[in-house]
Formats: sequence, C-alpha cells, structure tokens
Amino acid sequence: MYESTRGNLSGQSASQAITFGMVPNGGLFVPSTFPVLNWQDLQGLTYRDVAQRVMTPYLPEFSQDVLSDIVDVYADGTFDGLNPAPLISVGNFGVLELWHGPTAAFKDMALQVLPDLLKVSQNHLDLDTDVLILVATSGDTGKAALEGFKNRAGMHIVVFYPEGGVSAVQERQMTTTEGINTHVVAVKGNFDQCQAAVKRMFAMDTLKAQLEEKHLIFSSANSINWGRLLPQIVYYYWAYLQAVEQGKVNSGNNMNVVIPTGNFGNLLAAYYAKRMGLPIDRIISASNSNNVLFDFFSTGVYQSKRAFFQTISPSMDILVSSNFERFLFEMSGRNSKQVQTWYDSSNQGTFTVDPGTLKLCQATVFAGWANEEETLETISRSYKAYEYVFDPHTAVAMKVYEDYLSVTNDQTFTVIASTASPYKFSTNVLTALEGGKQESLRDEWVALGDLSKLTGWKIPSGLQGLDKKPAKIVEVCEPEGIMEVLQRMFT
Ligand SMILES: *Cc1c(COP(=O)(O)O)cnc(C)c1O
Repeated sequence: MYESTRGNLSGQSASQAITFGMVPNGGLFVPSTFPVLNWQDLQGLTYRDVAQRVMTPYLPEFSQDVLSDIVDVYADGTFDGLNPAPLISVGNFGVLELWHGPTAAFKDMALQVLPDLLKVSQNHLDLDTDVLILVATSGDTGKAALEGFKNRAGMHIVVFYPEGGVSAVQERQMTTTEGINTHVVAVKGNFDQCQAAVKRMFAMDTLKAQLEEKHLIFSSANSINWGRLLPQIVYYYWAYLQAVEQGKVNSGNNMNVVIPTGNFGNLLAAYYAKRMGLPIDRIISASNSNNVLFDFFSTGVYQSKRAFFQTISPSMDILVSSNFERFLFEMSGRNSKQVQTWYDSSNQGTFTVDPGTLKLCQATVFAGWANEEETLETISRSYKAYEYVFDPHTAVAMKVYEDYLSVTNDQTFTVIASTASPYKFSTNVLTALEGGKQESLRDEWVALGDLSKLTGWKIPSGLQGLDKKPAKIVEVCEPEGIMEVLQRMFT
C-alpha cells in the first residue's frame, strides 16, 4: 500500500499512486514498507528479469504476465546492445552508463515503462477516461517522456520547458517528436517556475472539471510519480550484480554510489535499493552551482529562495528538489506531521530540520558540488587519464567523487551513475576537451560530428540527423499562461 508523505492520504494501491501521480492535496506517494530482496537471488538473471523481480513486490495487483510484457522493453532492442545499463570499468571505479535508451539520457530507463504501468493501473481502476500527462522538463525528461508516450491510445502529453534553458540538441529532440498526441510548450521562466506552474495545474479545480467533461484526467511523468521511481531501483541492483560478476566487489561487501542530482529521484532510488537490502554504503550526492542540497546537508537549512544559475549541466538546474520530500519523510522517522510543516507553503521554500534528522541525513548521504570551471576541467582531465568522456552532469559527479576521496580516503568500490551521453552536450564537452573557454560559439550539429571524430565514439542513433527532421511549432507562454494553453488544446 502507498501513503502520503504529509499524512493526508493512506491505504492507496499502486495503481492509484501511479494514476494520480501526486497526492491531490499535496504530498507524494511512498510505499508503506520496503520489501527485502536479496541480490544473491538475482544472480545470473538478465536485466529484464531483474526488473521484473525488483518491481513485483511493489505492484501486487499486476499479474506476472502483464509485468513480463512491460519489462520486455529492456530486451526488445529499444535499448542499444544487449545490456541496457552496462557497468564500465574506468580507473579503479565503475561508471554505470544509463543512457543507452532512445533519447540518450537516463530518463529512458523509467520512461520506457511508465506508460505501460499507467495504462494497466488505469485499467485496474476501471477508469474510462483518457490521461493527460503534464511534464515540466529541465531538458531530458521532456524528450524521454514524449518518446515513451507518443501514439499511445488514450494518452496525451504536453511538455513544458524553460525557453532558452535547454540545449539546442535537447530542444530539437523534443520538437521533432512524432506522434499525434504530443505537444511541446516553451515557458518564459526558469525550470523551477516552469515546474511550479505545472504543479499548480494539478490542483486547479476549474480546469480539472473542464477536462473531466472531456473525459480527461491529469497524471504526471515527472519523478514525483511512483511509476518513475520504481524502475530506477532496478539498475542499482544491476550495478551491484555486475560489480560482483566483474570481481570489483567481493560477494556481500558494500559499494558506494555517486549520483548527479537534480530532483533527487535517481538518488532516492539508490536509497530505496539500500532499504531493500542491497549492500550500498555511502550515497554521494553531486550538485552543480545550484547547490541547494549541498547547503542543506551542511546546515540542515533548505533554502530554495536564492540565485538561480543556468549551467552546462542544465538537467540539474533545480532549486526545488521534489523528491527530497520523500527522503526527509524517511529521515524524520516517517514523521508526516513534521514533513507537512516543513513543506507548508507559508514557509515559501525555506525550512530547517531538527538536529536528529540532519544527523541521519548526513550519515546516509555525502553531499558535494562542482562549479562550471571544475566541471569542464574534470571532463578534460578524465579524458586524458582514462580516455573516457563524461557528459557535464556525470562530470559533476566525478569531481564530487574525487573530493569525497580526498576527504575520506574511502577504498570502497564506487559506482558513478552516468546520466547522459556526452553527445547530448557536444559543444561544451568539446570545448572542455580542447581546453577552451565555455563561450565558444560552435554549432551544436557540427560539434556532434567533431566530438565523434575526436573520440572515436559512435553518435547515439537518436541524435543522428536531428537537425534535418521537420520540427513542430512551439507555443511560447508565461508561467501564468499555462492554464489557458491547456484549455485551448483540450477543452
Ligand atoms: C534528470 C537528470 C539528472 C537529475 O536526476 P534527478 O533524478 O532529477 O536527481 C541528472 N543528469 C541528467 C543528465 C538528467 O537528465
């Protein structure tokens, strides 16, 4: 069963949690208990089968046949190669490449199964409505969601992105998506404003009533949706199984994970895996200059009202980290009253946790951050040292891992979650590799080819020929204008 982090709803089925995305009156769905799953029982299985085993206890009303069909996406060629999430040996650590899906970012790992989870959930609830998916994106979620939901019967999707806040490749990926049920809207504002405006739609009763007349209900494909988080737990098991098989970790010993963090979904999935019994020791959170989480872990004060930086790792340009609420729910000993107070809107995004909660947070997560210069420098230095190319997000993680090592000298085998292909951010990666300054005005499409020439790495198929494809016309609106756009499209 699932309950709300704010204590205002409990006893909900998985199907309800997935269909509604977030708790209607505020709060996020969390599982009431964490099942234990021994990694030993998964040895020798394929990714597809591991996924089925990890997801089963959380989806009791899903039959094994149905689940088996859903996880087939990991074995049917949608992901490049035979292993959807290979653990690559780099230096004496591991890089878990999570970007072999159709959009070259780790969001595919979950967004290729979410539409099916949602469809089946809806059937379980006997809803004869269509679903309208609203997505706020800082770049990567948008395309991965569009790709997952395109041409799905009974589903419509609208993606909102900050105008000028995503890379040319990211924008082009979104606007060239095919499908009669896909829409893309640029919002004048940054990601947080975009996300806040979209969240307000979920609570807008007049709009909801108008949509209901058209047999439409809202759901979310952002990582506030439990159906996004669940598939992400799988790859931490997968990382550990590979580490054991490769002889990097002795059976049963701990591994650490380093995670480039934005909305805290990826990190939370690692924490949930640990709660299920996976031998994870330190979880290392890496932020860019938008280092609100680093400050929190240092002080216990969450202060989202602060300067916002547009960085070269745009998918982490987030100050209101949605899933952090789920983490604090666990760290406070599941004290929903306390969580409710912290997230009370009168606090305007600023709150301070008690010393006990902070201590537990610090014991669970090591937090660090890297600025722009350090990120570029890490890309170039790592390439020289290992002939391995990090995208800017993963480079932030790499830098924070180095900092962690110099502070702790911890010799535990460590896995860095690599969240995007470097080709999604070719211009900046090339600039870094050539030791130049960030401002170079290189054409992103030329940069793709240049990066390939320089490194010999293959350009992911989803990024090839994008500049030649016909693009949709994008609506532009103010954050306050989102409702009107939706009314025009659907009512
Ligand atoms: C979304 C994203 C992140 C941040 O992940 P969260 O789960 O939101 O913390 C990091 N890197 C890339 C490339 C992303 O697309």
